[in-house]
Amino acid sequence: MRVTILGSAAGGGFPQWNCACRNCSRLRAGDPHFRPRTQAQLAVRFADGQSILLNASPDLRTQIVSAPFLAPAKTPRDSPISGVVLTSADVDCVIGLLHLRESHPLHVYAMPSVRRALQEENHIFRVLDRATPPAVWHDIPRDTWFPLETIRAKSGESAPLCRAVPLGGAYPDFVSEGLRRLLPPDEAVVGIVVAEGGKQFVYAPSVPEPSEELKAWVQSSDLCLLDGTFWTDDEMISASLGSKTAREIGHLPLSAADGLLATRELAARGRPVLIHINNTNPILDEASAEHDEAQRAGWEIAHDGMEFEL
Ligand SMILES: [Zn+2]
Repeated sequence: MRVTILGSAAGGGFPQWNCACRNCSRLRAGDPHFRPRTQAQLAVRFADGQSILLNASPDLRTQIVSAPFLAPAKTPRDSPISGVVLTSADVDCVIGLLHLRESHPLHVYAMPSVRRALQEENHIFRVLDRATPPAVWHDIPRDTWFPLETIRAKSGESAPLCRAVPLGGAYPDFVSEGLRRLLPPDEAVVGIVVAEGGKQFVYAPSVPEPSEELKAWVQSSDLCLLDGTFWTDDEMISASLGSKTAREIGHLPLSAADGLLATRELAARGRPVLIHINNTNPILDEASAEHDEAQRAGWEIAHDGMEFEL
């Protein structure tokens, strides 16, 4: 399978339309040590040419149009995209579903609670159900692999499989308190493992805590694309851009003593890559000490267009 990073930034992208932080300002000024990034989005292409998306970013239409392998190839109305797997109900993970409403056969895989939050309280997503044919929603099962309905196995090999890794975290603010009380907390944010032909990768753009289960999946994977949102816990506060810490919004800071870079098990095997990078994060400056420090800790820093063949 081939994994393509269509977008590598956290919510807001880089630059963010209303942000004049140091990074966004330097990028706008043309500093060559910065490159623009769209909001986090993965595509996975399998041997039969079919692709699935991991999450559906607000930039999804532009990201699809910019990727030649996602262009229609067969009939006048066609797409190799056959499904979307969601890691949470966060706006940045789901709003791109509305870009996929053009009556294309689509399978959407989500934890049951994420599906309920979208379908029961956000009626705009009914455009997917009213399409011809309607989107087919699948509840992701707990603690087991599930097949991607539309992806055929390579000859002589088993079909690709996915599974969810619960990561803790919280449901987004737009979910009503009444519904939130009913939803199990461990379905709010998950990582996704995708396996095909003896290879596998993990995608977890939000890691509130590096659980033992996540560490185990990372250590058995050939590639891990993990939460590179913030360098420090107080990054938004010290830049006068917000009142919450990284941890309060579900992201383990990279540089903390118990942060992502210090959690050696996460970079012990395979290819570790930081993704979902907030526009305030100093690692976006390719001349910075922080960029260097992340690389010396063994991590690659994702950019749009990066590809991995597994
Ligand atoms: Zn900014």
